[in-house]
Amino acid sequence: MGKYQYRVNCELNINPKDFVGVRDVLEISLPCMNCQRNDRTIIFEGINTEGICTPREKCDGFPGKLTSREIIKKSDTVEVKYLIDFEYEPFIDKKYNLKSSLPEFGWARLYFTLKCTNCQKERTISTQENIGRPCNERCGCGNIIYKDEESPFDYEVNEFN
Ligand SMILES: [Zn+2]
Ligand SMILES: [Zn+2]
Repeated sequence: MGKYQYRVNCELNINPKDFVGVRDVLEISLPCMNCQRNDRTIIFEGINTEGICTPREKCDGFPGKLTSREIIKKSDTVEVKYLIDFEYEPFIDKKYNLKSSLPEFGWARLYFTLKCTNCQKERTISTQENIGRPCNERCGCGNIIYKDEESPFDYEVNEFN
């Protein structure tokens, strides 16, 4: 069985001074060896938690953990870096009868909180790989608080030995 590490970087188009934080939950698509299905949505509820493979009634858990989350404030963006350590061995997808593969690029969603520069209210929003872009998020006061112009995500998978 192979051990792999999936690295996901998300560079949010946010001024660091308006950034409040990132929610613990990360949703991401990965092949799950446990239930032998490709492209499952795996939910991590925090650092060092096992992934929850969805739908839950079809799988009793993803064989991997979210092992690290790092937040880097740059001059005009905020970068969030995740590491997921997981076990994987190619399999034949049970439903589609296709060989599984590790994602070269992927799908992810994260939730973050920022502060409106106009009314100072905090708001939690999410961004994900596959939404129609550009997509602006507005505060209740009408101010645009987040401009989602291109996917902020970047993915990389490496095998460990
Ligand atoms: Zn599963
Ligand atoms: Zn506002």
